[in-house]
Amino acid sequence: MQVDVVIVGAGPAGLCLARSLSGNGLAIRLIERQTLDKLTNPSLDGREIALTHASQQTLQSLDMWRHLQADEISPLRDAQVLNGSSPYALRILAATAGEERLGCLVPNQAIRRAAFAAVNDCPDVELLTGCTIEDLQCSRQVVALRLSDGQRINARLLVAADSRFSETRRRLGIGAHMEDFGKSMLVCRMSHERSHEQVAWEWFGYGQTLALLPLNGNHASAVLTLPPEEINEVMKLAPDAFARDMERRFERRLGRMELIGERHAYPLVGVYAQRFAGLRCALIGDAAVGMHPVTAHGFNFGLQSQKRLAEVLLDALREGRDIGDPAVLQQYARAQQRASWPLYQATSLLVRLYTDDRMPTRLLRNAGLRLAQNLPPFKAALARHLTQVSG
Ligand SMILES: Cc1cc2nc3c(=O)[nH]c(=O)nc-3n(C[C@H](O)[C@H](O)[C@H](O)COP(=O)(O)OP(=O)(O)OC[C@H]3O[C@@H](n4cnc5c(N)ncnc54)[C@H](O)[C@@H]3O)c2cc1C
Repeated sequence: MQVDVVIVGAGPAGLCLARSLSGNGLAIRLIERQTLDKLTNPSLDGREIALTHASQQTLQSLDMWRHLQADEISPLRDAQVLNGSSPYALRILAATAGEERLGCLVPNQAIRRAAFAAVNDCPDVELLTGCTIEDLQCSRQVVALRLSDGQRINARLLVAADSRFSETRRRLGIGAHMEDFGKSMLVCRMSHERSHEQVAWEWFGYGQTLALLPLNGNHASAVLTLPPEEINEVMKLAPDAFARDMERRFERRLGRMELIGERHAYPLVGVYAQRFAGLRCALIGDAAVGMHPVTAHGFNFGLQSQKRLAEVLLDALREGRDIGDPAVLQQYARAQQRASWPLYQATSLLVRLYTDDRMPTRLLRNAGLRLAQNLPPFKAALARHLTQVSG
């Protein structure tokens, strides 16, 4: 079989790229390990994705937004950063950027479902589910693939979008810098007595990190980061005991809390690929840059990476050039590097600073928040960064 583009991984990034490229005369194949049923009806994974205005606009332009139900979208008005028991909070207000909200929260499950629905409508995208790549050979002319179901495909371009632990990246011989933060993150939905007023919290406590993502009504996604052994213990608590434990961790600032549904735990590992393109191949989404979730930017970044790649490929196509031309792919790789490296580094630094509980660092953390809180131009710039639509 001869096709133009093979994308490995029908997660949010891979699906969005397929939709971005669709309608331009390209034959596109999406290879996904999960079954078709799992893609059509993705299960809840506890992740609530904070989408920037730019990401919302991209999802609208990809015809995915209309597949979301109104009650799946929760407005995120403001955000506050807290440090230990200090009453000081750095507040980032949407109003300082002239907006009503910084962004919105949408469950990852709903994004996956909406992205799948939009791609399912595309006649030029064929989904090959329940399979993976068994062998691949990249040459200057073609990428030759053998799939786990025995099919053979020749493609002009291969794109890896198969998660931060990408097997395809490895098969392509592209290394990655991995940073294991040595912590796990528990996420779950909770109801609470007092209103969160649509304000997100990032609370760097001593010995734990908490976050609260405001959903509609008096519901929120509670996020707890601890060493893996401690997360295992918290996961084992009975629902009621868990709710009391979370109430205590949140210092009862939200009143009584109750667990809704399941708890999910994730290991915290940051990944940055050594290259974003190679011989007739490119990386997007978490396979390119897998961010620590603290800045809530992973998927926002993934969306930008697929948009960046699609723009470069479609420009090449219009100019009659080969989409697997090294110069074309290097253009993407350079732009991706420029856009992602500063924020990836800043995020790692922030995580190291705010999870170090030694006394000098605690004082530095407090001083940093006070300084930032008293610098209105800095806060307004941060709010503008989150709300700008140009990405
Ligand atoms: C707790 C948590 C909270 C988060 N919160 C936010 C947030 O607020 N904002 C934000 O922007 N981001 C957030 N993120 C990050 C976001 O979830 C990811 O960046 C995003 O899901 C990555 O999408 P992806 O398509 O690149 O990869 P994935 O979602 O990992 O999808 C990869 C796909 O590839 C498939 N696959 C894997 N291996 C193979 C293979 N060998 N062959 C075929 N298919 C394969 C998988 O089945 C999957 O469908 C959060 C992450 C976590 C863990």
